Amino acid sequence: MLPAAILILQLGSLSPPIPQAEADLAQSLRAEQPAACPASGLAVQVLGSGGPVAEAPRAGTSYLVRVDGRPRLLIDIGSGAYLRFAEAGGNVTELDAILLTHLHADHSGDLVSVLMSGGFEDRTEPLPVIGPDAAPRFPATSDFLSGLFDPDRGPYAYLGGYLDGSEDKPLLAPRDVATDNGDGAPVTLMLGHGLTVTALPVHHGAAPALGYRVDYGGKSVVITGDQSAFSDGFETALAGSGPQLLFAHFVIPPGPGQPRALHRPPDAIGELAAKLGARRLVLTHNMNRSLARLGDGLAAIRQSYAGPVTVAYDLDCYAP
Ligand SMILES: [Zn+2]
Repeated sequence: MLPAAILILQLGSLSPPIPQAEADLAQSLRAEQPAACPASGLAVQVLGSGGPVAEAPRAGTSYLVRVDGRPRLLIDIGSGAYLRFAEAGGNVTELDAILLTHLHADHSGDLVSVLMSGGFEDRTEPLPVIGPDAAPRFPATSDFLSGLFDPDRGPYAYLGGYLDGSEDKPLLAPRDVATDNGDGAPVTLMLGHGLTVTALPVHHGAAPALGYRVDYGGKSVVITGDQSAFSDGFETALAGSGPQLLFAHFVIPPGPGQPRALHRPPDAIGELAAKLGARRLVLTHNMNRSLARLGDGLAAIRQSYAGPVTVAYDLDCYAP
């Protein structure tokens, strides 16, 4: 058994402190925030700007897409984002869909909590829940939901009404998108309120995973989801598309010793932003380990991308 001091040191190394200069740099790159999300047009509110490690003040990854101020799409709902959903004025009744990039817990951990909250509302329409298909150790999105709420064996069997619409629960309408280890074809989804969403398979290690493009009123926003730099189909499909906003997950600092099969290092984030012609790059899914070397990460991004770069904080709102 490891001595306690060594164990604490190892655990502590997962969440290194952010040097003050880097913390100040992150704040300086935060976009100036309006008093409230815009009351008209498209906006993306970052509900959770953090990752899998519990690091205040960031909740796990989540986005709320608003149209004319109203909450219409919930994209991922990582641990802690349930509270941000409430703080943002989110509610399940007004959602056109819940979109999941993948089923890692830092992207889906608060899903049951949000659904349960919706069970206290008066939504009558089925609720689409769209996400990736299955792979070893990862259920398809539909099986994830049916497993949770299975009336016989589900850990939340008592909430089985989500599977059949009984007990005043909103009926879930799951849809699995084929990912083919990141090589699957993009799928276009028409989701109401003038929103067109394209689900784009990406490569994220062993996890079936998607990125999303959201189009509204001639403007587009791209959310990479968790993806490695081996996401060739994603890059090709969106090359030169010029999204107004590109949300990229800033999980790892530059240099060796990082999980490159799972995430884009900063230089590959810059290459992606340049290839897409993004008008603005927003770094989110921030972690202490990446923010602690934010200056180095920015320099790596700048090798390819010269546009504006912003660091997201929970509840920050962006209008394309
Ligand atoms: Zn992940």
